[in-house]
Amino acid sequence: GGYGIQALGGMLVEYVHGDFLNVVLFVSSKLKIFDLLKGKGAMTSVDVANCLKASVRGTERLLDACAALGLLEKTHQGYSNSDLANLYLVSDCEFSLHDFILHCDDRIWPLFTHLELAVKEGTSQNHFAIGKKGEDLFQDFYYQNTEMKQHFMSAMHSIAKMTARDVASAFDLSQFRVVCDLGGCTGALAHELTQIYPAMKVTVFDLPDVISSVSSFQPSRQNTGQISFSSGDFFKDNLPESELYILSRVLHDWCEEKIHALLSKLSAVCKPGSALLVAETVLDEKGTSPARAVLQSLTMTEGKQRSVLEYKQLLEKYGFTSVQIKITGNLLDVILCFKKVSPR
Ligand code: SAM
Repeated sequence: GGYGIQALGGMLVEYVHGDFLNVVLFVSSKLKIFDLLKGKGAMTSVDVANCLKASVRGTERLLDACAALGLLEKTHQGYSNSDLANLYLVSDCEFSLHDFILHCDDRIWPLFTHLELAVKEGTSQNHFAIGKKGEDLFQDFYYQNTEMKQHFMSAMHSIAKMTARDVASAFDLSQFRVVCDLGGCTGALAHELTQIYPAMKVTVFDLPDVISSVSSFQPSRQNTGQISFSSGDFFKDNLPESELYILSRVLHDWCEEKIHALLSKLSAVCKPGSALLVAETVLDEKGTSPARAVLQSLTMTEGKQRSVLEYKQLLEKYGFTSVQIKITGNLLDVILCFKKVSPR
């Protein structure tokens, strides 16, 4: 191999420093440093510290760390946003990851602080973070108050906008006129679908708490008439009629029994020839790649990530055939399958 023994050791030390890297991203996002520097010329660390009401000593170290990671640029005049920061870290830019980063810091990171115990005992880490069993991660945890719900929705919106175009265009969906996005949250994917398919009507189906707060997430140029919102619980309530159902980042959250309930119900309402589109990160057959999905599994929620073969077998078990999988190269891959025409 091309790597010397020291270089391999160096790689491990980089892994150890991964924590430091996270913290720099979290803290600089929380302090809104990239908003402060947006559209400005360079600012000195003293100016930034004054604006943040923070110490000069600490601010300077944080700004240098941001520069080391390529989040800021440093010249003799001071610090300014890098292109990366302007594209993704400013809180109100189109593809902002700001809210997603804060979500990971506030909600996901605590799940990892009990990893050792979770590995020993096999318990879900939600248990520690939520302080109770956390039967339903959404209704018992993320949506326990309005502020937490808003944060969660902002985080989903921010990450969904990154993936929506690739999910919507992975397959030719022009044959479907009536589409229902189950757990579609703020409608980010629905919006992208209607941009690509002008004849498509999409119903975004999600919990009542979510649907009551979707308005602030709608783009100013609405595709009026093409998108509608419908509230309900996909385990308990009737699903809107549709030619294509979508489950984007839904299946990996749930235990086998819940998946069984949801897919049985979907299979029953799907008319022959209608379809199901699943968007998830698909694992390789060894189950060790992509690393981000494998690491996410360490939160040990009730659900799990699956490989191409596992998704195919799961969907076929519920009467869906012609399973096609598209690895997009983006954060989400896409699976399309069709409800089997039952033999006469
Ligand atoms: N589909 C969106 C995406 O890909 O960004 C959101 C994914 S988010 C991980 C899961 C979504 O499922 C949330 O919007 C949540 O409110 C919704 N959800 C959870 N339980 C639900 C239920 N019982 N009925 C309907 N929607 C539910």
